[in-house]
Amino acid sequence: MPSRQPTRTRKSPISARLAAPIVAAAPATPDPVGPDTVAEIFARLSAANPEPRAELEFQNPFTLLVAVVLSAQATDRSVNLATAPLFAIADTPAAMLALGEERVRDFIRTIGLFNTKAKNVVALSRILVEQHGGEVPRAREALEVLPGVGTKTASVVRNVAFGEETIAVDTHIFRVSNRIPLVVAPTTDKVQAGLEAIVPAPYRLNAHHWLILFGRYICKARKPECYRCPIADLCRFPAKTSAP
Ligand code: SF4
Repeated sequence: MPSRQPTRTRKSPISARLAAPIVAAAPATPDPVGPDTVAEIFARLSAANPEPRAELEFQNPFTLLVAVVLSAQATDRSVNLATAPLFAIADTPAAMLALGEERVRDFIRTIGLFNTKAKNVVALSRILVEQHGGEVPRAREALEVLPGVGTKTASVVRNVAFGEETIAVDTHIFRVSNRIPLVVAPTTDKVQAGLEAIVPAPYRLNAHHWLILFGRYICKARKPECYRCPIADLCRFPAKTSAP
């Protein structure tokens, strides 16, 4: 009589088991808060800091423009350290042009991308001297064609130097807007358009400063400090942090 073979349990191949995906359910993106909540958020940010200021140091529209150009992928602190001696001898387009690319480069070599930035600063100074009488233009179109000047830089200059109600969107504002969310959008241009459409008029001039400072010091990139956030009860971010 033939011996019976033990019954074997069929197992899936190891490769198949290892390949089985382990997927954590991603929290759904909440809907943006409504107009009343937007107004309340800005009322609180305004109350906490009634006169917000840019952390970049500058003396006039031209030095503001140069400082913002230099601040791409650099901290405001590193830019301020480099521009203090630079602006002491060149705070106009004509003086910057006379200084020349090589000397500008020497002043800013502690800042990332200093070669390209030195070239851009001298080139934009030349355009300001030759085409704008040595003045920084106010129009977005005229600013955005200057070397090293994109949408964000133009918006900062128009807002800070000329009092235009633009909301330049940097990495902090982009993150904060999508987290709360004020605006859910995949690009900085779309977040800017969304914010400019929903921020109530009394807050539009300073919204850029409030949101940048809020993102820098409270709603930080890696670990937001929700436990000390003045708008925690209004924010819909699903992964709020607790006190350390
Ligand atoms: S509660 Fe947290 S995630 Fe929401 S805005 Fe405040 S710091 Fe940012």
